[in-house]
Amino acid sequence: MDFELSEEMRMIQETARNFADKEIAPVASELERNGTFPHELLKKAAPLGFCGMLIPEEYGGAGLGNLALSLVLIEINRACASTGVTLSVQNSLGTSPIIKYGTEEQKKKYLPRMATGELIGAYALTEPGCGSDAAALTATARKDGDHYVLNGVKSWITQGDEAGIVIVYARTSDAPKAKGISCFIVETDTPGFVAGKKEDKLGIRASSTVEIRFEDCKVPASALLGEENKGFKIAMSTLDGGRIGIASQSIGIAEACLEASIKYSKERVQFGKPIAHFQAIQWKLAEMKTRIEASKLLTYKAAMKRDLDVDHVLDASMAKLMSSTTANFCAREAVQIHGGAGYLKDFPVERYMRDARITEIYEGTTEIQRLVIARNILG
Ligand SMILES: Cc1cc2nc3c(=O)[nH]c(=O)nc-3n(C[C@H](O)[C@H](O)[C@H](O)COP(=O)(O)OP(=O)(O)OC[C@H]3O[C@@H](n4cnc5c(N)ncnc54)[C@H](O)[C@@H]3O)c2cc1C
Repeated sequence: MDFELSEEMRMIQETARNFADKEIAPVASELERNGTFPHELLKKAAPLGFCGMLIPEEYGGAGLGNLALSLVLIEINRACASTGVTLSVQNSLGTSPIIKYGTEEQKKKYLPRMATGELIGAYALTEPGCGSDAAALTATARKDGDHYVLNGVKSWITQGDEAGIVIVYARTSDAPKAKGISCFIVETDTPGFVAGKKEDKLGIRASSTVEIRFEDCKVPASALLGEENKGFKIAMSTLDGGRIGIASQSIGIAEACLEASIKYSKERVQFGKPIAHFQAIQWKLAEMKTRIEASKLLTYKAAMKRDLDVDHVLDASMAKLMSSTTANFCAREAVQIHGGAGYLKDFPVERYMRDARITEIYEGTTEIQRLVIARNILG
């Protein structure tokens, strides 16, 4: 076993950290306050390879893997969780199903433009009536000659209004639940694709979240990704990667909380000494650090197993469960360590606390991660 990152991985981590510190951190609060989608940051991130981390070099991508993506996402999310989720969705949910299941034609058509950030991807599984129970989805895709006609509604789609393509899951047969679902690459300028208004959210406010509707949206048969009626497998295997992305996002938020807490506890003086001298504060910092390191080990392991293409369903769920609960623990403790200052918008920890909350909800709630883990160990 080797717990050290390779020289290459350390360089990628350092590049992402420098980029996050220099370009993202100075504008993060303002973007979040105004709910501004981070277009400008994506333009700057793309030349570093961050929009196409998993895309093979032959299609213009960085040709790296999930461990490298995780390292980059941790650093980006340390500065801004809205920019972090934008890039997580672009890489894990947007490009990855095309890389794994796409035809040569689909790869050539979409991946090079996704790598440059010109084309943003989104992923549409959730509907008003189905979230955790994703296989109960009701959107339909009816075959009509050499086309499919999509109808239905998808809820809370991250960057659904900013994307050029959306990976959409819809029912192509009457077969029950997971059996009748297919996956499509839908170009968002197709007539009948309608993006609704932006949701007004608690956190990650610079990431856009919208409802999308399909109103007799006619796509060519070539838009089918993978085989007909085998789409649910694509949805789930894509989410395994997405969960590693959200675990990385959680670690980034947790690290930001710890850094802010260390700084503040050394500066803030009460009872004649910096509050870092009090054991109650030290214990909080020690617990935060320990949980962050445990989250990293689980997340790196899940990412490495995904890179090796071995079963990582359990690993991805454990990584997300541990990391997202760690982010929320660290955010709560960071606000507590800051006292009244932590409750104000003058300090970043209130943003971290609002941002952390989503990590336990999207790409499978904490309860669903526990369910997946229990199913795996009970057999
Ligand atoms: C900001 C944001 C961005 C999102 N982005 C996307 C996106 O890009 N694409 C997309 O497809 N979806 C997206 N989602 C949807 C997200 O994945 C769902 O919200 C999530 O899966 C939970 O589904 P739900 O909200 O319907 O909750 P529900 O499934 O209704 O769950 C409600 C509660 O019941 C619990 N629960 C449900 N079933 C069980 C069970 N069997 N055992 C124990 N507890 C259970 C849940 O854990 C939760 O606590 C996004 C959501 C948000 C808020």
